Amino acid sequence: MPQPTLQGKTYFIRTFGCQMNLHDSERVSGMLDSLGCLEVAGPAQADIVVFMTCCVREAADTRLYGQCNSCKSLPAPPSGRRVVAVGGCIAQRDGEGLLTNVDNVDVIFGTHSIAHVGELIAQAFERGGKQVRTEEHEVQDATDMPWHRATSYHAWVPIMTGCNNFCSYCIVPYVRGREKSRPFEQIVDEVTALVRKGVREVTLLGQNVNSYGRDLFGEPRFAELLRAVGDTGVERITFTSSHPKDLSPRTIAAMAETPAVMPHLHLAVQSGSSRILKEMNRRYTREQYLELVQNIRAAIPGIALTTDIIVGFPGETEEDFLETLSLAREVGYAQAFTFIYSKREGTPAAKIDDPTPREVILDRFNRLVSAIEDSAFAFNQNQLNTRVPVLVEGTSKKDEGILLGKSPWNQTVHCQIPVGFSIDDLVGKIVDVDVDRAKTFYLFGTMVGEPR
Ligand code: SAM
Ligand code: SF4
Repeated sequence: MPQPTLQGKTYFIRTFGCQMNLHDSERVSGMLDSLGCLEVAGPAQADIVVFMTCCVREAADTRLYGQCNSCKSLPAPPSGRRVVAVGGCIAQRDGEGLLTNVDNVDVIFGTHSIAHVGELIAQAFERGGKQVRTEEHEVQDATDMPWHRATSYHAWVPIMTGCNNFCSYCIVPYVRGREKSRPFEQIVDEVTALVRKGVREVTLLGQNVNSYGRDLFGEPRFAELLRAVGDTGVERITFTSSHPKDLSPRTIAAMAETPAVMPHLHLAVQSGSSRILKEMNRRYTREQYLELVQNIRAAIPGIALTTDIIVGFPGETEEDFLETLSLAREVGYAQAFTFIYSKREGTPAAKIDDPTPREVILDRFNRLVSAIEDSAFAFNQNQLNTRVPVLVEGTSKKDEGILLGKSPWNQTVHCQIPVGFSIDDLVGKIVDVDVDRAKTFYLFGTMVGEPR
């Protein structure tokens, strides 16, 4: 629906949280662009400020309140009036209740209401007052909406929304709803169209991509989807997140046999203690996870495994933690997101008392981070003195003469931009880099040959 009020208004979106939110932000941005709005670089120049929120951990709530409040002291925007909108998981969870913590929010739109963001913001400009929309089910799938991709060479492609797993610590299934897969052909057609537009890498998105299709076909079809996406000619395929209990041998075979699927798998373990895994309702044991890792490594030698780990789940003992530490060492993760458990009201784990002192949890966290750094360093040594194809993303923040890109194993690679090239010639291209330094967080080397 056209919204003449929004024509020419400037907007700025700040995104917190996961890739799903990053992609939702691209949909909001696509919608605002299609209504004639213009994106600007910061909130000070923006008539419309949108916060896309995450509620997985508590710190995100406090950060959002701070960000909303700081809008009050910004200079007046070009149109003379600023509308502040909050979307994403906190908006879905709290709805109007959010206004008890922040009073300068004009629009609240939930995770299922992205398709309405244009009309809600227009109403806020026209009528004032608070516009709130947080229905439980999508009326129009946001995945059918226009979107504004941050880069020309990479695209996030949501293949499903929601989650059925109810891990006992996690709020996601309560705010994002049940698993809903997009039609198979729609995804493949979308990737085909993206490839025609020059996209070289797609990241398939879902809370649990391994169960893609269960709601449509009665059984998961992720393996078939990977092969079909591989047939589109896209050069690099990555995906996230994978739940270990649903990663089937068929999917491992499809990963191994589809050349475009990158040798990188994010496989959240959360804990190395079978007792804690049971309390977390993860539905696999330490032994089953390690066996899965062996099977993956046998099918895809050299694969980079990354993970999520929670430290300080209520009741975690030193023995439980030592099991996590030993599992991390045994797997040898290439990287990991490590989190301190954050109590989320409404989840089963929030009811479990925990006497463990904060210092003990912090100490465990630091020991885990140091073990992950050791294994990341060791993993990166694999690429030392080898030639690595790197998809160029831009320049290093510290030095504009250094390009930054990604290896097939999801490593950050740096190298000097060779004389005769500018970064604009290289972004979105694949270049070969001879690696002569391998650090914990990046590889460094020299570009050889021509970009392609
Ligand atoms: N669905 C994904 C999966 O299972 O791999 C993860 C989605 S969740 C947004 C990302 C990560 O946040 C989880 O893997 C978990 O490690 C972490 N997380 C979720 N709830 C948490 C909590 N209450 N406290 C700390 N970390 C949490
Ligand atoms: Fe949360 Fe578990 Fe679902 Fe991931 S699989 S979103 S951790 S409930």
